Formats: sequence, C-alpha cells, structure tokens
Amino acid sequence: MEFIRSSIINCDSKLIKQDFETSKIYYGSINKLGNFSKKTILNKLTNEKFRNLNIPLKLIDRFIDISKKVTPNKKLRTLKELRYLLNLLYEQKIKLFLGIDIQKHNQNFAGRAYLNQRFIVLNAEEIFDIDYLCAILTHELIHFLQNDRPLYFDIDDSVVPFVMEHYNHLDSFDLQQELEAFTYQNCPNFIENFNKNEFLLKEMFYASNQRKSTITWITLNKKLPNYSQSSKPLYQYDLKKVLDNLIISDLRPKKIHFPNRLMR
Ligand SMILES: [Zn+2]
Repeated sequence: MEFIRSSIINCDSKLIKQDFETSKIYYGSINKLGNFSKKTILNKLTNEKFRNLNIPLKLIDRFIDISKKVTPNKKLRTLKELRYLLNLLYEQKIKLFLGIDIQKHNQNFAGRAYLNQRFIVLNAEEIFDIDYLCAILTHELIHFLQNDRPLYFDIDDSVVPFVMEHYNHLDSFDLQQELEAFTYQNCPNFIENFNKNEFLLKEMFYASNQRKSTITWITLNKKLPNYSQSSKPLYQYDLKKVLDNLIISDLRPKKIHFPNRLMR
C-alpha cells in the first residue's frame, strides 16, 4: 500500500510552566469561585464522584480573569477566541463544569465532553492559561461537532504517538475522532471558522482518498507507517497561518453576551 503523509503543519502550543507563584494565584482564585459539591446535576446524570462546580454565565468573567492572571504574556490564543468559545457553550446550552479531586477518583483528563448530556468538565487541577483553556475547549467542542463520527479531515501525523499512548483502549473509529480533535485543538479560532466557513474548511481539510486509507491504516495499527520518499502530499497547510490570514478576515462578530469590560 502507498502511504501518504499529512497535509497539515501544526502550530505547537507550549504549556505554561507551573511555577510556585502561578500555582498559588491560580488555586487561590479557583477556590474562591464557589462551592464545589458532589451533589450536582453532572454527578447525578453521569455517576461521577468528584466534586465539581457548575460555572454559570455570571461567573464566567471571574473565570476568564483567573486565566488572564496566569497568562503573563499572550501567546497563540486571544481573549476574543476564549470569549467566543464560552459564548458558544451558552448559546448551545452546553453546561460548563469545573471538577476537582478528579485524579483522586482514578481519572485522568484535562477536559471531557459528555455529548448526550451536553456537559463539558474541565479538571481544575490543570492550570488554565488562555492558550491551554482555548485548546481544551476547542478539543471538546470538536467532539460536539463530530457528533460521534469523524469529520474525515486530515490529521497531523505528529499527534499520532501521543494519542496512541493515551487512548490505546479506543477502536479505530474513535481513535480517528481523537486524532482530529488533537490536530485542530491547536488551531486558533478553529471552532469559529468551522461555524462560519464550514464549506471552505471542508474544501481545505478533507483528506484525499489516498490519505484516508493511510489514516485508516494508522488507526488500525495504532502507529505511523514507514513513509517512502515519494509520500509527500500535493500541498501543505500551516494551521495557524491559513486561518489567521485567509479566513479570519471574513469573520464578523455575532452577538456577544459578555460584559463590556472584557471587550478589547
Ligand atoms: Zn478527546
């Protein structure tokens, strides 16, 4: 079989260093957000056991403030994107929960989407700077866009080893969805672009038939193939540049629910 390489060049999203000062500010602020409780609708409907906090719209500006505090200099993502993502959650009636003690209950995730019940849970033990928070929310919202089936977009080969290590138990079909989510979570404004320029994005990112067979091989064999010299795709997209320069200029802000002081 003739394998073909990825057409995606991903932008790397470096996580913040968790120094002592940042952690202190972060955990202090998170604890002031409200009462974490085990008796929430999330736990009732999902049989979860960890304490968590529903973040209603009125708490969102405080939540954003916390992320701003632990984001000393802005890197890839912007407050505008963060507001868009949070805004979308509320428009789509997807509830946002913040959970603590998740690791204690033998679970290990930064974020998780409960598709049928329309919840997203973020693990408060991770420090959410703006880059990280946008990436996690984008990841979970991609799962909502997929709606239990892959988008059949190309995936970035460089995310394959990580996904295969951490999602080893998944079948081929589910692995493909994770590979897509990990590829596009690092793409600034992906969700907004998808919602506003869906056909354009599909034109750009749909995998060719030959690449599709390669992706299927990857998800079945849980590793990258040995590519030959001639396995280059016809063209390559740099995720950050493409969406920043080409598409984002077409975007018009829709209604924004957030307080004015957060607008910039
Ligand atoms: Zn995922």
